[in-house]
Amino acid sequence: MMRRFIAPRNTDISLRSPYGVQLPAVETVWFTAKDGFELNFKHLPPVPGTTDMGPVMLVHGAGVRANLFCPPDIITLPAMLSAAGFDVWILNWRSSIDLEPSEYTLDHAAVFDFPAAVVKILELTKKKTIKAVVHCQGSHAFTMSIASGLLPEVTRVVANSTAMTPKVRNAAAIKLPIAMATLGKMTDYFDPQYGLYAPSFSAKLMDFLVDVTHHECRNAVCKHSSFVYGVGFPTLWSHHNLDPSTHDWIEGEFAHVPVSLFRQTRACLKEGHLVPAMDYSEIPTQLGREAPRTDAVFTFITGGDNRTFRPIAMRNSWKFFNRHSPVPLGAPPKHGFKEYPGYGHLDMFLGQYAEIDVFPDIIRWLSED
Ligand SMILES: [Zn+2]
Repeated sequence: MMRRFIAPRNTDISLRSPYGVQLPAVETVWFTAKDGFELNFKHLPPVPGTTDMGPVMLVHGAGVRANLFCPPDIITLPAMLSAAGFDVWILNWRSSIDLEPSEYTLDHAAVFDFPAAVVKILELTKKKTIKAVVHCQGSHAFTMSIASGLLPEVTRVVANSTAMTPKVRNAAAIKLPIAMATLGKMTDYFDPQYGLYAPSFSAKLMDFLVDVTHHECRNAVCKHSSFVYGVGFPTLWSHHNLDPSTHDWIEGEFAHVPVSLFRQTRACLKEGHLVPAMDYSEIPTQLGREAPRTDAVFTFITGGDNRTFRPIAMRNSWKFFNRHSPVPLGAPPKHGFKEYPGYGHLDMFLGQYAEIDVFPDIIRWLSED
């Protein structure tokens, strides 16, 4: 039986208001995925009186939750989007640590979660289209869904860190198969909360390995997440980009991830592009080779110091989408790309200066038609 170790603190989202504006309250909206899985949104309406910019869906990575976009002591992307007039829907898809643990794959989310999420937002907002900001494994699953033609109502996407063509550093590429062949055989889930409480032999073994290899800080969950998600000290951010309270806060934000997802990630890395793990007829067998079945405009972003997925991974996704989106000679490419020097994987959203360095770009791209 899988236990959930997520700390009970941090359950409410409390956002700092940007520019002195009064933010609306965040509400939880439950809905059902197409296979019956119960999901929800953390919904932040636009600040009253702002120009209606329409709905935007935010999609978190694996083993975290909607709250991860919302560190309490910095100005966050959801707060800035709301202040700019966007109706913000932060999705807890089935990888969320707030939901029942399950041994999902990207395919499950692509086929069952995102199509239902988009329909729910359109139904509640009475709009015809939406935009999206997607991150990490959430970006993988979302990209699989939209490239399969399952999200025709999404017109604009900002994807962070990885999308159609994942690529990791050599050390991580060597480590992943070894971890799968050893630790992955002993457990169905990895969990950075093992740094706080290790309930089994495999959890204790992992805690021991982290203890002997990671000395970069005193936050056990920070160190465990570095161990689980690649090779870096730390892996997911640079410490100097996080203010101390955000570094403390992440202790309650990382928990269980099924080995099934790492198995599929390994297959994707081997192929050089996303590959389905299930046999769902909704996902084309030529995914990653054929033209993506979407008219949406993408902006691919990543940190220049990204130690989870290499920056070239996003550059390759950008090239892939542009290759399949021909424009007249001399016209700019349809899809955009930007690399942020000094940023990594997740400090693009958690960084203390992201409100200045990153979020204004995202808002500008989402504001374009
Ligand atoms: Zn740390």
